[in-house]
Amino acid sequence: MKTFKKVESQVSFPKMEEEILKFWDEQKIFEKSISERPADKLYSFYDGPPFATGTPHYGHIVASAIKDTVPRYFTMKGYRVERKWGWDCHGLPIENIAEKELEITHKKQIEELGVAKFNEICRSKVLEYVAEWKKVIGRFGRWADMEHPYKTMDRDFMESVWWVFKELWDKGLVYESYRTMHICPRCETTLSQSEVAEGYKDVKDLAVTAEFELLGEPVKTSVLAWTTTPWTLPGNVALAVNENLDYVTIKKKDEGVGEMVRFIVAKELATKIFGEEGYTVVEEYKGAKLVGKSYKPLFDYYAKDETLKDRENGWKIYHADFVTTDMGTGIAHEAPAFGEDDMQLGKANNLPWVQHVNMDGTMKPEVTDFAGRQVKPTENPQEMDVEIIKYLAKQGVLFAKEKYEHSYPHCWRCDTPLLNYATSSWFVRVTEIKPEMLELAKSIHWSPEHIKEGRWGKWLEGARDWSISRQRYWASVMPLWKCSCGEMKVIGSVAELESLSGQKVEDLHKHIVDEVTFPCATCGETMHRIPDVLDTWFDSGSMPYAQNHYPFEHKEQFEQTFPANFIAEGVDQTRAWFYYQHVIGTGIKHSNAFQNVIVNGIVLAEDGKKMSKRLKNYPDPMDILNKYGADALRYYLLSSPVVAAENLNFSERDLSDIVRNVFRMLWNSYSFFTTYASIDNWTPARNASRSDAGGPKADAKPSDNLMDRWILSELQLLIQEVDGAMEQYELNKATRAFAPFVDNLSNWYIRRNRRRFWKPARTMESGGGEDDSDKEQAYQTLYTVLVTLSKLMAPFTPFLAEEIYKNLTDEEPARMIKSGGSVHLADYPVVDSTLIDVTLNRNMSAVREVVTIGLQKRAEAKIKVRQPLNMVSLGSKYEELFKSLVDPHDYYAILEEELNIKSVEINTLQAKLNSEEDVVLDIEITPELKLEGEMREVVRAIQEGRKKAKFNVEDRIALGYVGKEEVFGNFETEIAREVLATTVQKGALTDAEYQETVTLDGEEFTLSLKRV
Ligand SMILES: [Zn+2]
Ligand SMILES: [Zn+2]
Repeated sequence: MKTFKKVESQVSFPKMEEEILKFWDEQKIFEKSISERPADKLYSFYDGPPFATGTPHYGHIVASAIKDTVPRYFTMKGYRVERKWGWDCHGLPIENIAEKELEITHKKQIEELGVAKFNEICRSKVLEYVAEWKKVIGRFGRWADMEHPYKTMDRDFMESVWWVFKELWDKGLVYESYRTMHICPRCETTLSQSEVAEGYKDVKDLAVTAEFELLGEPVKTSVLAWTTTPWTLPGNVALAVNENLDYVTIKKKDEGVGEMVRFIVAKELATKIFGEEGYTVVEEYKGAKLVGKSYKPLFDYYAKDETLKDRENGWKIYHADFVTTDMGTGIAHEAPAFGEDDMQLGKANNLPWVQHVNMDGTMKPEVTDFAGRQVKPTENPQEMDVEIIKYLAKQGVLFAKEKYEHSYPHCWRCDTPLLNYATSSWFVRVTEIKPEMLELAKSIHWSPEHIKEGRWGKWLEGARDWSISRQRYWASVMPLWKCSCGEMKVIGSVAELESLSGQKVEDLHKHIVDEVTFPCATCGETMHRIPDVLDTWFDSGSMPYAQNHYPFEHKEQFEQTFPANFIAEGVDQTRAWFYYQHVIGTGIKHSNAFQNVIVNGIVLAEDGKKMSKRLKNYPDPMDILNKYGADALRYYLLSSPVVAAENLNFSERDLSDIVRNVFRMLWNSYSFFTTYASIDNWTPARNASRSDAGGPKADAKPSDNLMDRWILSELQLLIQEVDGAMEQYELNKATRAFAPFVDNLSNWYIRRNRRRFWKPARTMESGGGEDDSDKEQAYQTLYTVLVTLSKLMAPFTPFLAEEIYKNLTDEEPARMIKSGGSVHLADYPVVDSTLIDVTLNRNMSAVREVVTIGLQKRAEAKIKVRQPLNMVSLGSKYEELFKSLVDPHDYYAILEEELNIKSVEINTLQAKLNSEEDVVLDIEITPELKLEGEMREVVRAIQEGRKKAKFNVEDRIALGYVGKEEVFGNFETEIAREVLATTVQKGALTDAEYQETVTLDGEEFTLSLKRV
C-alpha cells in the first residue's frame, strides 16, 4: 500500500491552489457537491446580482467569501445547495455608461437618437466584464453556477417581473399619485426613498430672508420669510403662519436709508432677527390676524397671468399647522410644486399651480430673468441662488442672507443635487402592508444581530410608499396599458400580451413593447403602454421568483426554495435588496423572502479612506490572490469584523501575519506528519478518516497518552465552537477559532511530541514494543487531527483543506467511491463529547500559561533556558487546580522540561518571599546548577560540531575534549549519551574528523570528533 505524499516544508500557497483548482475542474467537484446530496434536503441560497459594468472589487470579494463559506458548510452538513449566479443588467449604471459613450448630456438627446438604439447600446455594455468576473471569482475559489446565470434583462426574468407587478396590482397595492418627491434633474427621473437616502451629503447653501410687502396697509409693512432654497422663490404663491402663535409688527430704522420700516415676524424670534435693541414692537397679536392678508409677489411672472387658474387665491397668507418657531421667522414661504407640506397646503386652499422649473432643472421660459438656466447646477449648486439674491437686493426686498450648512440629497448615480419636485409617479402601497412586514420580519435571523432592530428595523419602521416608476429607458417596463377613456390594463405575461395584440413579443424592453397596442375592452380605442419603466430595485426584489421564471416554469423548485435559507450582502442593502425582497414577499406571498442574512461592512484602504482606483491606495485583489493565495485572503476577511457589518481597513501586513501564523504553521505540522509517516511507511488504521467524530477510529484503541487525549479533546471543542458559531451565522467567530488550535497543535502538541515519531534507532531511550504502540498512538492522533481539521476548515479555506485531505485520505478505496477524494464531498465533523475532557483542557491551558510566564521571568532575570534552575513555585491561582488532581505529576513533568527546573512546588516561594505572584522562579544558581548549565552548553557545542561535520544523526562518535574538565568530571556519562559518544577522552583526538575551539562562559573549550 502506497503511503502519503511526502510534503516539503517549503510551499507556495498560490501554486498549490492552482493545482487544486485544476483538480476541482477536472473532477467536477462543485457539480458533484450538489448532485451527491439528496434532492429532498435543500438549503436555499439567493444570490444578489452584481453589475458586470466593472471588475470585481473588495466589496464583491467579501460578499463572495461569505456566499461561498456558508453554502460549502451546509453542503458538508448534508444539504443540497444550488448556487445560481445572477447579473444585474438594468438601470442608471448602464445608462450612464451608454450616455458617456454616446456623449449624451441631456435626456432629450436619447429621444432624438431613438430609444431602440440607446437600449441596444446598453444591452451591449451590460456583460462587458463577465470574463474578468469569472476569472476573479474562480480564482478566489468561490463556487457558483456562472454558466447558467439569471440576467435581469432576459425575457423570462422580465416576464416574472410583470407577474410580480400584476400580483401587487391585483391586490390593490399599486397606485398613481401626483406628489412632490425627489428627482434628479440630470437623469430626469424620480427616485425612490432608498435611492435618495443613498446620496445625502453635507453642503453649504445660501439661505435668504425676503421681504413680502403687505397690500392695503396704511404704513408700508413687510412680512419676513426665510428659505434655504432661494431658487424656489419665483414659484412662491403663498405665505403660511400658524394662527395660534404670537406674532409682532415691529418698527426699526432701515439700514440703507435710515427711514423707519415695519416688519412682521413671530414674537419669539424677533430678538434673534433684529437684535436686542434697535427695534420697537408696534403691535402684538395671534397669527390668525394675519390669515387672509394679501402681499405683493416678489416675482410677477405668474401673478400677472390673468388666465392662471385659482389666481385669486394666490399671494395671500394662510394658516398651516406645520409652521413653528424652530427656524427662520415663523412665517413660511410656500411653493407647492416643490415640497410635500407646501403641496398639501396648496391642495387644501386651491392655490394656483405654479411650477416654474422643468423636470431637467431649468427655469421655464416665462421666468424671463432666468429662463433656461439650471436651478442647481452640479458644478456650482449655489449659482442660481446667488442670482436670485442679487435680484431681490435690486428690488429692495432682501432682508438678509446667510450661509447655511445642511444635509442635502444628491443623485446616487451622477451626483447631481436632487430637487424636491411635484410630479406624477406610481407607488407600491408599502404603508398598507407595513404592519405585516414588521410582523414577518420578527422571524428573520440577522448576523450581526444588532442590524435586526437597528438599521433594518428602523428602516422598516420608517418605510413609506415605494415610488416604482422611472422616466428612463433601459429597464423592466411597467406592464400597464392605458386608454384615453381612462381604462387601464395590467399585463401579467407575454402570452396575455400576445393574445391581446395578436403579435409575437420576443423582448419586453421599452422600445419593443411601447409599439405593442391593443383595443380597449370598454371603448374600442387603442390602448398604449404608459411610458414609465420600473425602478431597478423592482427587478432585484423580484429575483426570488424571476430567477426561476416563476410561475411560468419551475413552480415546484420555487416552492421548495422560497423563502431562501440564506442571503448575504452589504449594510447598504438593508434599505435596498433586503428591503425590496421583503416588501414584495410580504405583498404577494405573505411571507419572508429569506430566513437568515449576513450583513457585511465595507473594506477601506489601510489609512481608513475609501478605496480609490484613482489614488491607487490599495493592492489589486488579483495581485493579492497571486501573492498570498485565496485561502489567506478568505481567512483574513472571514475572521475580521467586515463579516459583521463593520468596516475593515485593509492591511496587507495583517494578511501576511495570517499566512505566517496560521497557514505556514499548519503547513509545517502537515509536512512534519507526512515526512515521518513516509519514513515509517505508516498507514492509518482502517476507517480512521471516516470517523465523523474525528476521534480515534473504531478499530484503534484510544490513546492513553496525556498529550493525545488533550489534543483530541481540543479538537472536539473546536468542532463545537465552529459549529455553534456557524449555526448563528457568525463567520468571524467560527474562523477565529482555528488560529489558537493550530498554535496548540504546532507549538505544543507536535513540538512536545516530536520524539514519539522518531524511529526507535534514533534515540538512546527508545526500546521495545511498548514504545512502538506509543508511536502508533501518536501517529493515529496526529492523523485524526489533521484529517478532521481539514474537514472543519474546508468551508473557510477550501484549498489548503483539500490539499491536506486529499493527500491523507486519497488511498482509501471506501472513501474514493463516496467522495471522489475531495474534502468538499465529505461530511462535516460531528462532536464526540465522550472525547471532551474539560479538566484536561483547563489544566493544559494553565500549564501553557505558567510556561509563558516562567520563560518571561527567565528573560527578565537574564537567565538562559539552558541553565537549569531549582524550582518554580505556583501561587494560589494554580493551587486548587493542581492540588485537586490525583496525580499532577504529568503536568509538573511538562513544566520541569519546558522551564528547565528541578521541581514544581505550591506556594513555597510565595510564602517565603511574601509574594502574591502566581508564578515565582527560584533564580538562585547553586554551584551544582551552574555546573549542569555548563554541561548543557558543552552538549550543545558538541551537537553543533556534529552538524558542522555533517555526521548523520545516528552516527556514533569518539569524543576528545580540552577544557571544561570539571563538567566532564561530573557529567561524562550524560554528555556521552546525549551526543552518541561511545568513547570520551581528555585531550584532543589525534585522528579527529572535526575539531573546533569555542568559548563557553569566557572559557576556551576544544572538542574533537570522529565517527566510529
Ligand atoms: Zn442623476
Ligand atoms: Zn377605452
